[in-house]
Amino acid sequence: MVMKEEGNYKLPDWSLDVRCTGKGWEQKHKPCYGMMTLEDGDVLKRITWGEVYYGCICPECKCFTEIPEKLIPSEVKIYAPQVAAPGSNNYENLTKEEKELSKYL
Ligand SMILES: [Zn+2]
Repeated sequence: MVMKEEGNYKLPDWSLDVRCTGKGWEQKHKPCYGMMTLEDGDVLKRITWGEVYYGCICPECKCFTEIPEKLIPSEVKIYAPQVAAPGSNNYENLTKEEKELSKYL
């Protein structure tokens, strides 16, 4: 095989302002209603009963807020780490890094 072109594809720059509301999840944290600017590495996914949800964890109050899927580019969704509440069915399948991200859930 001969490389026809060097691979220099970069993910598009992306950011999204999201208010910390805790929307979509019952959880032990109270949302702080602060405003966050997310970049691609900040989007997380949760899988519940086969449904995939995307969201982020607030750096201030550690609350998970769901983000409407249509606001997130597909490249960002593909690479979003998965999180799951410790003790839930999906938790054991997570990587070490994903378990670390999940500790606030
Ligand atoms: Zn917050």
